[in-house]
Order: sequence, then structure tokens, then C-alpha cells
Amino acid sequence: MTEVQQYYFGSFIDGEEIKSEGRASIEVRSPYDGQLLGKISCATQEDAKQAIEVAHRVFETEMKKMPAHRRSEILRKTADLLEARAEQFIHLLALETGKPIREGKVEVDRAVQVLRFASEGAKQIHGEEIQLDSAYGGENQIGFTRRYPIGVVVAITPFNFPLNLVLHKLAPAFAAGNTVVLKPAEKTPLSPVLLYKLFEEAGLPKGALNIVMGTGPDLGDVLVKDPKVQRVTFTGSGAVGWKLKELAGNKKVTLELGSNAPNLVFEDADLEAASTSLIRGGVVTSGQACISVQRIYVQKPVYSDLVEKLVTKAKDLKTGDPMDETTDVGPMITEEAAKRAEAWINEAVQQGATVLTGGTRTATLLEPTILADVTHEMKVVCQEVFAPVLCVIPFDTEEEATQMANDSELGLHAGVFTKDISRAFRVADALETGGVWINESSIRRYDHIPYGGVKLSGVGREGVRYAIEEMTEEKFIGIKL
Ligand code: NAD
Repeated sequence: MTEVQQYYFGSFIDGEEIKSEGRASIEVRSPYDGQLLGKISCATQEDAKQAIEVAHRVFETEMKKMPAHRRSEILRKTADLLEARAEQFIHLLALETGKPIREGKVEVDRAVQVLRFASEGAKQIHGEEIQLDSAYGGENQIGFTRRYPIGVVVAITPFNFPLNLVLHKLAPAFAAGNTVVLKPAEKTPLSPVLLYKLFEEAGLPKGALNIVMGTGPDLGDVLVKDPKVQRVTFTGSGAVGWKLKELAGNKKVTLELGSNAPNLVFEDADLEAASTSLIRGGVVTSGQACISVQRIYVQKPVYSDLVEKLVTKAKDLKTGDPMDETTDVGPMITEEAAKRAEAWINEAVQQGATVLTGGTRTATLLEPTILADVTHEMKVVCQEVFAPVLCVIPFDTEEEATQMANDSELGLHAGVFTKDISRAFRVADALETGGVWINESSIRRYDHIPYGGVKLSGVGREGVRYAIEEMTEEKFIGIKL
């Protein structure tokens, strides 16, 4: 075990760090070897209320008046700083999330892009002209819309991408001229603080970004119910997200929740390319991504060929230390999470499933697992498994495949592999998900595409431009000449 720097962070309210031994604290440990990485001093409910007060004041006095060129500049500078300090972030991401160092690099690259998209987006916030004389009596009048920042945004974020998914909320919020109170995941709270420091250095006004540390149950109600909050943007599990939406009352809410992504492989697909993409899509972040490949439907004539390729590729993966450049799959976030996934695998086996590879666990490390002979009643199929577990299911016809893919309460992303362009469009049209990839697995996401779920996978869309739209209010202005 190598020595690592240990952090002790508090909450950040109005530019001040709030921490004390009197407040509750939470240790942050490496999911791989349990090494202590630091601790956080938790905010009290009073601290959380104070953070909202501050965010509200700074919105009224500074952020809503800040010109677009200045907001754009702050975001651009933050991107430059992050790029310059990429190594520090990559290292910390691997330590606190357990994702392999190679994936940490991808997360930092994407985070830099999110900031740059937001920097550009800050200068492109505009309404539209409405042709008023299209309506009877609308002659000699001019109508147009303008977009205004909404105010205080509460952002609650998950453990799996503590840099990029935090930025998917902060960067559009600041591009639009809002202020934020962020509650990062208590399991991975360290990278968000380093990010806070970059924003500070880039010139974001004090109190435009406030961080409250702690658990969701301790702080969630206070943050979500406060009438000074204009929008709640949450990324995390459905169980928490839908409850928060109820608590939020009349507020606007964005929910980016989980899924059990379907991927359909037709007999004419390039099986080599499909299997590579599917395996990668099932094991990135140890399967702990909301668009991880979970259900793979394969047309019967190519079922055994594809499954053989998947199993070979899964067996080739190296599971282990995330700090090792050659590691493909790191640990899951906690032993409890890995045990839960293992229990779901075992339950499926008792119900008739066959483990083609994997299925074994050592502490937080779960071997990439492929299951066959599964049914739609098994948890590994019908719920979000959120682990490196892929289920293969044969089908005969296109109709059967889309029907099975849609037989889920969840719908975030899907993948379709076929060389037939007409079929690709038919299936894309029929799938009940927020996004569909053709000849790419469900895991693919670029940070400027509209991104979000249907059914129980969420409400609203992220992706910088789309989040800016959700974090601004469009007002109509009419002029009678
Ligand atoms: P989680 O729901 O346990 O926690 C997410 C956040 O909510 C954390 O900050 C947590 O502290 C907070 N929280 C927990 N209970 C709360 C409560 N009662 N009130 C207020 N806040 C509360 O999720 P997680 O385990 O961190 O992340 C995994 C989940 O996130 C998966 O379901 C995954 O699919 C989903 N996710 C979705 C997306 C997306 O973009 N759609 C992206 C990443 C993760």
C-alpha cells in the first residue's frame, strides 16, 4: 500500500470552509484496499439553510447581473486550470471511486469539454422572434422571447463520476447566471472540493458555488424543500430521486436516474465490433454507470458466435488495482454493493440462469460476469444491476427483440447492432428510451448530446445546452407599435 495524501474537507459556504470536530464526520476510503483517503466534516441542517441564503443573495446581487462574456471567461479559465492539473484529478478519481486510472483520464477529458461547452454556451443563450401577425389581430406588433437565469439550483450527485456529473450541473448553471448549492456523494466528496478550488481560482464570485457535505437523508429535505430554491437537479438512484421529486413540491426538478440498458444484436451485425463495444459497455466503472450494458438480446443464428466472443473478451479483462495502468476493471464502490450484486447473480442461478464466466467476488472486486438462460422476472434483468454483469438473451424476430427491450420500467439508452439501415431506424423509433445508438453500445455518451431518461429513468435532459435551457426561464415580450 503506497502512502497517499489525506484530505480533511468541510463544507464551503460563502467562500468559507466550515468544519469542526463538533460536527459529524465521514471517512473516505479507497474502495480497492480500504486505505484512508481523508474525511469530511458534515454540514448541519442550519449550515444547509445558510448555504441556500447565501446562494440566493449572491444570485440577486451578482450572478444574475454578470455579463455573459464574464461567465464564459470564468468557465473557460476553469477548463484551462482543470486541464493543467489533470494528473491530480485522475489520481484522486482512481483512489476515491476505484475506477481504473485509464477511465479517470477519460472522465477528466470529458469534464474539461463540459466546461468548454458551457463557456461557449454562456454566449449563446437567446430566445426567438415570434411572428405575431400569424394570429388574427396581431398586425403591427412585435413579439420575442428572452431567457433569464432562474436563481438557486440545488444539485445532488452520485458517487460514480464525482467530477463530470457534478460539472454537468455546475457548468450549465453558471453559464446561465445561476448560483448553486451542491451536495456531492459522501462516498466520493474529495474531487468536488478540488473542483470548487478551481472555480474559486478562475474568479467565480464567493457564494456562487456552495458545497454542503453529508448524507442525503440528513440534508436532502432541507435542501429540496426550501422555497428559495428554484430547481433541484438530482443524479442518482430512482428510489431517492422520485422521493425527492415529491418533497420538492412545485419546484422544477431534473432527475437523471438508473437503467437496465438493452442492446440488440441482429444477425447481420459485425459481431467482432459489437462484442468489443458490448463488453466495454458492461464493465466501465465496474458496471456502475447508468447506461451500462445489462441486457443483450441476440438474434438466434448468431447467438452462439456472439456469446463466445463476449465470454472470450470478458475472460481477457484484468480485474484489480485501479492505480495500475493495465487494469481494466476496478472494485465496486463498497463491499456491500459487491455482495448485493453477487447475491443477485446467485439468486438468478437458483432460478435457472447459467454463469458463462465470472460470478466470483473477492471483497469489492466482482469478476466481469456473463449470464445466460435468464428470464425477465430475474432481478439481474428487470432491475438495475449496477455491477459488471451482462445477461444474454436469444430472440427470433425484430418485433420480439423490441418488445423484450421495452419490457422494462426503465428507459435511458439502448444500443442496436445491424447493417440494415431501414431496420436500424425502425428499431430506433420503436425503442422506449431517451437515446439510441446504432452500431455502438448503450454506454456511449458525449457531453453535448441531450441526455436523460423516459419512464422511471428520469425527467428532464442534461447535456450542456439542454441543461442551460432547463436552468433558464423563457419570457415573452410583446410590443404594440
Ligand atoms: P444514490 O441515490 O444512493 O445517491 C445519490 C445522491 O443522493 C448522493 O449524493 C446521496 O448522498 C444522495 N441521497 C441519498 N439519499 C438521499 C435522500 N434521502 N435525500 C437526498 N439525497 C439523498 O445513488 P448512488 O449510489 O450514488 O449512484 C448510483 C445511482 O445513480 C444508480 O442508480 C445510477 O444509475 C444513477 N446514476 C444515474 C446517472 C444518469 O445520468 N442518469 C448517472 C450516474 C448515476
